[in-house]
Amino acid sequence: MHVPCFDLTRQIAAIGDELKHAAGRVIDRAAFASGPFVSRFEDEFAQAMGGRHCVAVNSGTSALHCALLACGIGAGDEVLTVSFSFIATAEAISYTQAQPAFIDIEEPYYTMSSERLHDFLQRKTFFDRVGKILVDRETRRPVKAIVLVHLFGQPAAADQICSLAGEYGLAVIEDCAQSHLARYEGKPVGTLGDVGCFSFYPSKNLGACGEAGAIVTDNAELALKIRMLRDHGQKHRDHHEVIGYNYRMDGLQGAMLSVKLKHLKAWTEQRRRHALVYRRLLDGLPGITLPAEREGSVHVYNRFVIRVPNRDEFISYLKRRGIGTAVYYPRPIHLTPAYCGLGYKAGDLPASEQSAREAVALPMFPELRKEEVEFVAKVVQNWCDAQKCIGQRRES
Ligand SMILES: *Cc1c(COP(=O)(O)O)cnc(C)c1O
Repeated sequence: MHVPCFDLTRQIAAIGDELKHAAGRVIDRAAFASGPFVSRFEDEFAQAMGGRHCVAVNSGTSALHCALLACGIGAGDEVLTVSFSFIATAEAISYTQAQPAFIDIEEPYYTMSSERLHDFLQRKTFFDRVGKILVDRETRRPVKAIVLVHLFGQPAAADQICSLAGEYGLAVIEDCAQSHLARYEGKPVGTLGDVGCFSFYPSKNLGACGEAGAIVTDNAELALKIRMLRDHGQKHRDHHEVIGYNYRMDGLQGAMLSVKLKHLKAWTEQRRRHALVYRRLLDGLPGITLPAEREGSVHVYNRFVIRVPNRDEFISYLKRRGIGTAVYYPRPIHLTPAYCGLGYKAGDLPASEQSAREAVALPMFPELRKEEVEFVAKVVQNWCDAQKCIGQRRES
């Protein structure tokens, strides 16, 4: 049996005709940039995500960039986030000319640790008495916001983190690129902080037929600012009030996303069903750490990520048996050459670094068949048995 880690062609086989029909309508109306198909998707997505306003953009990275700018982040500022994420989380901060500072993750969940955040705020910052601005003791930069990542589909500990943010006067921007329809204490992610940023990159839980993204917020003022930023800083045609960008969503993507959004709930349930099978069959295996599901939360499993100490051997063992895996993310952001200028060193963020060394994603996408999930689990079980034998042989 050959089981790919991710395969979009199965989804296209199922809904390709629906997509082609919708694409035909966009072409017939020549509604290519913004326009009615994008507006319709904005309304549908706001409703599906439980937010009052949705602004569609051309990528998740642009969504984060606009959200940060709209929250007033700019040159000289500092924004707290995690290092164990896709690099776009940090890049969006850098685009505003602010600087990221990294908080370690809460190890079983792969999301920001509220304890580490609390430590950082208590020990590494102070309130400037004159301006009442929170300042980083080391960098001397004003600390303005948190970018909270719901990684792999797992909601971060939003209650604790948002209440710390409230206490210290920080904006909270949620990076929901991997967590469409995830819920925290009954509330949809994207509505827990000030603004939620989504990506529709093809491999996300809701993927466009190309690049796209969106922001969701209940704050009308933020939504309006983001609308201006995505379209050259104009509120009305030819009234450029700020320097903006061309971050508009394609009409084609709006139409594709409206088609796919109708399937998102069912796809999410399928992902969760596969996760349950993995859990049932892999629970308690020595050397394998399963992804924890946060109590009271709905994890939507963009990826099913386990930890294995001898990851490279594990990956080639599965590969030889026809199973695809992927590593997210082999290098924490603070140790990439791109961010070496911040001065972090190995050992600074132990949980993030351990995850970067040991995390590996098993096949996960809605169209996987149950036999395939069971086959993957069986091979992982065999691997564990083989490890035990090797261990015994070493001992004797
Ligand atoms: C995909 C992703 C992004 C960026 O989204 P794009 O649409 O690819 O620009 C940002 N953050 C995280 C966590 C992601 O997974």
